[in-house]
Amino acid sequence: IASLHALDESVPPPNRVQDRSTEVIDTAVEFANVPDTDPSTPGNRSWGRAIQERIATSDLGADLVHEHTITDAAVLEETISGAVAAGQEWGARSGVERAAILRQAAVELQRARDQLIEVMGAEAGKTIDQSDPEVSEAVDFANYYADLAEGLDSVEGASRSPYALTVVTPPWNFPVAIPAGSTLAALAAGSAVIIKPAPSAARCGSVMVDALWRAGVPREVLRLVHVAENDLGTKLVSDERVDQLILTGAYETAELFRSFRPELRLHAETSGKNAIIVTPSADLDLAVKDVVSSAFGHAGQKCSAASLVILVGSVATSRRFNQQLVDAVQSLTVGYPSDPNTQMGPLIEPASGKLLRALTTLDEGEEWVVQPRRLDDTGQLWSPGVKKGVKPGSTSHLTEFFGPVLSIMTAETLSEAIELQNAVEYGLTAGLHSLERDELSLWLDRVQAGNLYVNRHITGAIVRRQPFGGWKKSAVGPGTKAGGPNYLIGLTGWRPTVDLA
Ligand code: GLU
Repeated sequence: IASLHALDESVPPPNRVQDRSTEVIDTAVEFANVPDTDPSTPGNRSWGRAIQERIATSDLGADLVHEHTITDAAVLEETISGAVAAGQEWGARSGVERAAILRQAAVELQRARDQLIEVMGAEAGKTIDQSDPEVSEAVDFANYYADLAEGLDSVEGASRSPYALTVVTPPWNFPVAIPAGSTLAALAAGSAVIIKPAPSAARCGSVMVDALWRAGVPREVLRLVHVAENDLGTKLVSDERVDQLILTGAYETAELFRSFRPELRLHAETSGKNAIIVTPSADLDLAVKDVVSSAFGHAGQKCSAASLVILVGSVATSRRFNQQLVDAVQSLTVGYPSDPNTQMGPLIEPASGKLLRALTTLDEGEEWVVQPRRLDDTGQLWSPGVKKGVKPGSTSHLTEFFGPVLSIMTAETLSEAIELQNAVEYGLTAGLHSLERDELSLWLDRVQAGNLYVNRHITGAIVRRQPFGGWKKSAVGPGTKAGGPNYLIGLTGWRPTVDLA
């Protein structure tokens, strides 16, 4: 089982599974992705249980949010001008010097694993199986961008010129890994950062930033601000002194930021409407497992999630595939992350708009295979839904819902399936389940998405192995991929070397 991007043999395998209770944090090793916690060992099970108990009553990060909330334009002004000055000093340091601090950030993030998981559960509804890998990803970003920062000192033929100030506006769905990755990349590239966490994940972002401060990132260089999405928020993202902005969010938000300031250097990873194709040659048991985890992990609230599964030829009528899919989805235990039985957590806010419609409405020809149910009064807890009979060009085919609804489409041939997969405006992730080499070649020739996965789930890109970014309306800006070798280059300017001879 491999993703296409995972075929780089030079990348060492992840470390062996460690027991969190006896873990030694070792930075003196060559780059390797840090392992997630193995939930099957008794030590890690009680470790997880203790965190789940704290999730129910946690208020981690609340003080930090309070302390860094800005409601006064003069304070925001001071923050911006102070950050520009600090950025000039930070950018004048060598990449090697910045990298040393990033490596310490990796250590501090690893040390804060428990707290980060706790606050992600309490504030963002993330279950441990979802939040634990997110901490690993943040640690990986720190180590990987440290490696890249060292390389920046010696880019051949030209040196890189840092930008003084980067604003980072991360989303709530990956409330640690994305703010950490964007911030660490900008810092590694020699820029000061003002980070404005998503309001619904304000505490997660704050606890993450605190870990970076503990690691030695100067507070003048990395500034945490909580501003409402009002005049102050607009002022922050449209201020002329901001050299660049890293956004992960809806395509419409990227457009809005562009409208405020057309010349802004924007690095945006935006929406997705992603499909997995399953052909008759596939390992169908594996396909069911990967479709379910891609569609319903974090209740489908990922840009990378599978929102469509396209069944080719005989798979459409395969009792084995269809029954297993229904059984797997129906057996998911929905609940809150403090409950150890929970497999799928709540929505970040009560379902509304397009998502509520998707959870409650069928369009022409559609039929529920598994009908979603609202499970409590909050409007946030929904059981997962699967619909079939979804027609090409319909809302279910083309619209991003960002929630736990999977649409089944069918195609006579793989070519037809690829057309359906490509018909959406976005191009973030795409999956193929097939064991035929010719099918793989055809798919690779035609599929239009940034991250391609074969015989694997389509979420959870791994730093360095699977650089993450999109095509079409899934990216706005230069399109260099996060967690990949070109990302820092994209965040710095060229300063051509002048040959004085
Ligand atoms: N990087 C995440 C993944 O590979 C997705 C990020 C997002 O949803 O914005 O699943």
